[in-house]
Parts: sequence; structure tokens; C-alpha cells
Amino acid sequence: MIPVLGEVGDARARAASAPRPVGFVPTMGALHEGHLSLVRAARGRCASVCASIFVNPLQFGPGEDLDAYPRDLDRDLRLLEAEGVDWVFAPDARTFTPKTAATTVRVEGLTDRLEGASRPGHFDGVATIVTKLFNVVAPDVAFFGEKDYQQLLVIRQLVSDLDLGVEVASCPVVREPDGLAMSSRNARLSPSERARALALHTALEAAVGGWDGDADTARERLRAAFAAVPGVDPDYAEVADPRTLEPLHGHVAGPARALVAARVGPVRLIDNAPLPG
Ligand code: AMP
Repeated sequence: MIPVLGEVGDARARAASAPRPVGFVPTMGALHEGHLSLVRAARGRCASVCASIFVNPLQFGPGEDLDAYPRDLDRDLRLLEAEGVDWVFAPDARTFTPKTAATTVRVEGLTDRLEGASRPGHFDGVATIVTKLFNVVAPDVAFFGEKDYQQLLVIRQLVSDLDLGVEVASCPVVREPDGLAMSSRNARLSPSERARALALHTALEAAVGGWDGDADTARERLRAAFAAVPGVDPDYAEVADPRTLEPLHGHVAGPARALVAARVGPVRLIDNAPLPG
């Protein structure tokens, strides 16, 4: 059986004796092929691989889906074992995020926009927990998905600013055959919501397919695609600088990123795609 460590001290001891380089894949569980693509990338590059499973309460706002977030630890462990993960860190929320904790790690600027604007405090929760996870697992390389593109930029900034000494590797978005980005939250969609959720991908396709370097036209295409699908409540549909996430306007000389978020039934979904320079 794959070792599952819940205590910080045990996980730290395991990490200290692990063959280097150590690859690390932080997750919130309810694993799918997107997560497993990160594990495979880590396995391909690193002498040992740790995955964490922790539904981080700090990154959920009031009224968000913390309680409804899908959880299936036994299945997750089977999947991670089959992929050759060496050990799993799965701390308990009461001990890993105790009520007595008084420290927050905050990345400024990048977190003001998009997900940060819609989910106040979300990235503080992410940055705080990723810092703690890095302190426990002490990885050489940590693997993150482009599915959460803004999160990836926030982690890179965090690692650079705090000299965490971890290489941040990124992996492309893994999609269902019809294009829907894989997400643990997809499991909560009814069949009709699942069909409507494809609007996020359709919108990105419209922006990527028609991309002629004009950011305003691409943004219009994103928004028109959402408007064409009833029952999808768009949150944002932006064309942004891929490093700063500032909105772009007019003709863009370099690369850009299209980013979308929308609510479909009980679930809020996000997706993004590169617009080549
Ligand atoms: P989560 O469990 O949602 O916190 O995600 C854990 C990691 O898996 C993050 O780095 C995500 O960006 C990544 N991830 C989630 N879904 C996908 C996907 N469809 N393709 C690639 N990476 C993903």
C-alpha cells in the first residue's frame, strides 16, 4: 500500500530521506486525468514523487462549495499508487489549518484580477497552504496545471519573492474528448449542465480560431459565445497579458491568454487558452 502521511512531522521525515530530486504534485483530491498528467510529468523527471491531497478550507470563501467539494480518498490512493507515487501527504484540516493560525501569505497585484476579484481571499488561501506544503515536503520541482493559469502565475511569483528554492513546472490543460476541461467539480454537473458547460471551451475555441491579434475582437467572440448558450452565467471572459494578466486592448504584438469563468448550475468552472503571438 502507498504510504499516506497525515502528520507534518512524519511527512517531513519521509521527505528528508527521499531520493532527490523530489517531485511534488499538490491536489485537492477527487483525482482525474488532469491531476495524473502532473503525476506522470513528475515521475518522468524526479527520483521520488510526493502528491498531497488536501481540500484547503482557506481557499474557499463563505458560500462557496467547501462542503460539497467531491472527496474520494480510497480511489485517489489507488490511482496514485498505480502511477508510481512514492508517498502521499494528506493532512487533517483541523491540525494543518488550526483556528489559532495567524499568518497569511499574500501575493499582491496578480491576485487583484479575474479569480482574485471574483473570489476575495482565494489566492491568500492558496499561497498560504502552498507555502506550508513546500515547507513540509521540501520538493525540488513542483508541478501545477495550466488549467488554473492565474494560480500558476501566483505560485511562480510566490516562489520567486520568498526564495522558496522550488522549480515550478507547468503542464497543459487536459480535456474530455469533447473539449471540456477536466475538473473535479465536473462530477457535480447534471447531464444537461454538463452539455451547457461545454460553452467555456466553445468560447475559447471561437477566440483562438478567429485570433488575428486584436484583443477586443477576441474578447467579443468570447462573450458572444457565452451569450449564445442559455443557462450559463458568465463571470468573466478576458483577453489578458499572459504574465501580468492585465486586460489587453487593440492590436497585440506578443502572446496573449484568453481566460473564462462561468457558473453552470451549482458549479463555477474556469478555463483558459493561449493566443499565440
Ligand atoms: P486541484 O485538485 O483542482 O487543486 O488541482 C490540483 C492541480 O491539478 C493544480 O495544479 C491544477 O491546475 C491541476 N489540474 C486540475 N485540472 C487540470 C486539468 N484539466 N489539466 C491539467 N491540470 C489540471
